[in-house]
Amino acid sequence: MPDADVATITIDMDKPCVRCGKKGASDSGICLDCIADTFAQRHGRRSPMPDQMALMPMSAEELRKKARELAQIVSEVAEMAEEHAQRRLEMKQEKEQLLKHLRLTAQAIREQGIREGEA
Ligand SMILES: [Zn+2]
Repeated sequence: MPDADVATITIDMDKPCVRCGKKGASDSGICLDCIADTFAQRHGRRSPMPDQMALMPMSAEELRKKARELAQIVSEVAEMAEEHAQRRLEMKQEKEQLLKHLRLTAQAIREQGIREGEA
């Protein structure tokens, strides 16, 4: 005795699907594959958000491509760090030069002042 709350789909394994022609059509005339396709289209497979992309399964080729991209980024960051270190060194030398110049100037002013005072 059929239960009214349970939806049943009858598949006739001899009846061809009206859409794709494969055998095994349901009461509606289409097969389970075509029902699944229709369902997927109707509910729209939305494209994943960028931050979810990394969690998506990738092919070996995609993984190699991502690995190359990552290696490129890592080497660029290392280059930038080297440039910054070089720049810091130059600025430090510049600062030391300025301080030395300032000390010499101060010393010259002091000596000049003393000489003027002595005169
Ligand atoms: Zn079909």
